[in-house]
Amino acid sequence: MSLWKIAAAKIYDPANGRSGEVGDLWIDGDRIVSAPTDPSVRPTRVLDAIGLVAMPGGVDMHCHIAGPKVNAGRRMRPDDKRTSQPVRRTAATRSGTLGSVPSTFATGYKYAALGYTTAFDAAIAPLTARHAHAEFDDTPCIDRGCFLLMGNNHFLLRAIAEGDPERVRALVAWLLEAGKGYAPKIVNPGGIEAWKQQAGGNVHGLDESIPGFDVTPRAIIRSVAQAAAELRLPHAVHIHANNLGMPGNWTTTLATMEALEGRRGHLTHIQFHSYAGGDADEATFGSEVGKLADYVNTHPNITVDVGQVMFGSTTSMTADGPVGYFLGNLYKTRWYSCDTELESGCGVAPIEYKRKSVVHAWQWAIGLEWYLRVNDPWQVAMSTDHPNGGSFLAYPQIVRLLMDRNFRQEVLAGLPAEVREQSELKDLAREYTLEEICIITRAAPARMLGLRNKGHLGPGADADITLYTPNADYQAMFELPRLVIKGGQVVVEQGEVREPVAGKTLYVAPGYDPGLEPELRSWFDELSTIRFANYPVGLSELAASERVECS
Ligand SMILES: [Zn+2]
Repeated sequence: MSLWKIAAAKIYDPANGRSGEVGDLWIDGDRIVSAPTDPSVRPTRVLDAIGLVAMPGGVDMHCHIAGPKVNAGRRMRPDDKRTSQPVRRTAATRSGTLGSVPSTFATGYKYAALGYTTAFDAAIAPLTARHAHAEFDDTPCIDRGCFLLMGNNHFLLRAIAEGDPERVRALVAWLLEAGKGYAPKIVNPGGIEAWKQQAGGNVHGLDESIPGFDVTPRAIIRSVAQAAAELRLPHAVHIHANNLGMPGNWTTTLATMEALEGRRGHLTHIQFHSYAGGDADEATFGSEVGKLADYVNTHPNITVDVGQVMFGSTTSMTADGPVGYFLGNLYKTRWYSCDTELESGCGVAPIEYKRKSVVHAWQWAIGLEWYLRVNDPWQVAMSTDHPNGGSFLAYPQIVRLLMDRNFRQEVLAGLPAEVREQSELKDLAREYTLEEICIITRAAPARMLGLRNKGHLGPGADADITLYTPNADYQAMFELPRLVIKGGQVVVEQGEVREPVAGKTLYVAPGYDPGLEPELRSWFDELSTIRFANYPVGLSELAASERVECS
C-alpha cells in the first residue's frame, strides 16, 4: 500500500474553497484521496510540511515546447545557446540546452523545478502532430497536450464555405483524433491562407473574404466554436485573433469576442491583441485593455491568457506566417517561414524586447493591465506565450509584479515617458493575493481546459503538488519550490530534479462520423503529399497517454 501523507501544510486550493488553512494531504498511488476514516489506517510515510505552502502543480495552458516550429527556433538560435547556462547531467538527469527555446529534456526539468506539472503546446499542425508527440515523449516531469491548428485548414474552410455544420463538426473531431490533440486552435483565421496565396496578403477584418474559399474569419470563428460546443470538448476553441501585434487591433479583438455570440471561447495572448493606434503609427500606439477587459468582465463565456512580454532577448514563433514575415522585416533579422501544406503556415524570428522601446514598454504594461483589470481571476491565466513574450522561466517575476505594487512601479519608472504617463498601470493599486496567484497559475487554467483532475487538491485529483517556502520576496518563493510532487512521486527538491518521472499526453477523442472518411481519402489522394492512411497518429505511437472525456 502506498498511502502517504503531507502533514500540516498551509493549503491553497481555491477550487475547493481552501485558502491557506493548515491541513493534511493524503496520497494513494498517483491520486489525492480523502483522509482515512479508520484511525487504525496509518500512512507508510509522513512528509512534514509545517510552515510550507501547498498548491496544486502549475498548469501552463499556452506555450510552445514541441514540434517542427519549436525545432526551427532551436536551430535558429545557436547564439542564445552559447550565452545561457546549459543544464548539466546529473545522476538523475540528462544534459540539455536552455536559451529561449530549451531542449525537450531541459523544458521538462525546468517546468518541474518551477512547480509546474502540466503544459500545453498551443499550435501544432495536425500534419506535424507525430513529431510533436515524439518530442512530448522526450519531455519529462510534465503531463502535456497540444492544440491543433484548424483556422486555415483547406478541408475545414471548404466545409464552412458550403455551410455544412455537421461536416465541420465531423472534421474538427476527426482532426483531433488524427492528431491526438486536445482542442481546436484558430490562428489568424483565414489570414495565413491569404498570405500563402499572395505576397503581402492577409485579412484584416472579420468580414473579409478569404481568397479562393468564399469564407470569412467570422464564419471560421463561429463554426469552430459551435463545433467545439456540440462535441462537448473539455476546452473551448482556442483563438489567436486576426491582426496580432498591429496598432489599433483592439477593434478586431472585440469583434472576435462578439463573433462568438455567447459561445465559449478562449482568447489567447490577449496582450498582443489590445493595442490602440492607427495603421503602422507608433506615435498613437497604446493600450485599449480597458474596453476589452470590461467586455470580458461582463461575459463569462470568455477566458483569456495574457502573453506577458518580459524585457530581454527571446524567439518569436507562430503559425501566423505573416507575423513572422513582419517581424523579420521590422527588426532586419533572421527569419524562417514554412508552408504547412493545406493546413497552416509558420514564422520564426529572434526578438529583443527593450525597455527603451516605446512599443515594447507598452506591451509590458498592457500585459500587466490585463491581469489587474480582469475582476475574476478565474477568467485569466498566466502566460508569456513562451517563448514569444518571454520564457516560462519568467513566471516567478510576473508573480512578484502582480503581488508587489512597489516593485511594479519601480520597473514602470524606468520606462519611456509616454508609457509612464499614459498607461493605466500607474493608477492600478491592486495586488494579487497568494490565492489569486494560485488561481491564475493552476486552478483557472485547469478549469478552462476542463481538466477535472488537475488544478485542485480534492479527492480524485492527480497527486501533482507544489510545496513552497513562504518568502516576502515572492519571486524568490516561486523560483525555488521546496518540493514538487508529480503523480505522487517527489520529482524536485529545492530546485534539484531527483526523479524525472515520465508524464503522459492528454488527448480527446470526441468521435466522428466515419462516413466522412471516403471524402477525406479522395482529398488526400488528390492534394496531399502524405497518404491518408499515414496521416493519423496511432495511440500506440504515444509512450504514455490519457484520454480526457468530453462532458
Ligand atoms: Zn502562442
